[in-house]
Amino acid sequence: MLNILRASRRTGRVTESYPERSGVEAAFRGRPWIDPARCNAAGACADVCPSGAITLTHLALPVSRWQLDLARCVFCGLCEEACPHGAIKMTNGFELASRTREDLIVGVTHGPTGAGGSGQTATPTEEEEVERGAVPRRMAMAPQPAGSSDPAGQPLGRDRLNARIRGLLQRSLHVRHMAAGSDNSTDWEISALLNPIYDVQRLGIDFVASPRHADLLLVTGAVTRHLEPALMATYEAMPAPRLVVAAGDEACGGGVLEGSYAVAGGVDRCLPVDVYVPGDPPHPQALIQGLLVALGRLEPKIRRTELTARPVETNE
Ligand code: SF4
Repeated sequence: MLNILRASRRTGRVTESYPERSGVEAAFRGRPWIDPARCNAAGACADVCPSGAITLTHLALPVSRWQLDLARCVFCGLCEEACPHGAIKMTNGFELASRTREDLIVGVTHGPTGAGGSGQTATPTEEEEVERGAVPRRMAMAPQPAGSSDPAGQPLGRDRLNARIRGLLQRSLHVRHMAAGSDNSTDWEISALLNPIYDVQRLGIDFVASPRHADLLLVTGAVTRHLEPALMATYEAMPAPRLVVAAGDEACGGGVLEGSYAVAGGVDRCLPVDVYVPGDPPHPQALIQGLLVALGRLEPKIRRTELTARPVETNE
């Protein structure tokens, strides 16, 4: 017993102070970053990409489009190794939660007048420079997800975030996790949210066993045909307003299983998805960011539900 107490004292406090970061995440590999000025659209990166995340399309010669689907990228780094011009750099930018599937697709178009990007600017912004490691990441520059910042854009600390969730729901945000045919990698990261390091309960977020008590459905996996009815039944059992978050590449768009007869190919083929959290698997901080982006979508939904539930006034 004494040894356990000594060990805990030596370890100290391990919980991350969200939204500030401890710096440990700098070791985590995130999205690839492309320098349009160096890319000549030769396609060596697309040839080695194991998940088909990179596509090179020749539009009308000499115009071609290089495209990266972040919902398929497994952050393996092979494209960086394969590029002979050093146009691709792996970054530690892993907080990629998005409200739409389209926002996860970034691209560069090559034409006679040079290269230009969409979803990623041709001239790297300061934030992109930070992401690819050209300058050190500073806490103040980390993008704040909608729902975790105040109207002035200032990040909400733990207590204010907690207060905001309680103000919206009068209690914690209740999350029901459902694995719809996943490989368990994302599910392991989700279970890490409850450990002492990420400890989402301090932010006012809790996991529940029954969909009837849940505000948010957190789905992993490409949705196998076998589990599709269970997913629909779980969603139907949730009270309105309800949110759906697709966690991991497979849930966002099928990942490497896309096109298989055995899967639907992503949660949005079955349910309306509010937030996509790509990654294979996503970092626990990326999952927290996804939950907070979803929180930003909850307020208008609550207002809509209240309006719909309001009794119709009659003159009787
Ligand atoms: S890091 Fe992503 S885009 Fe690059 S090769 Fe790997 S899976 Fe493909």
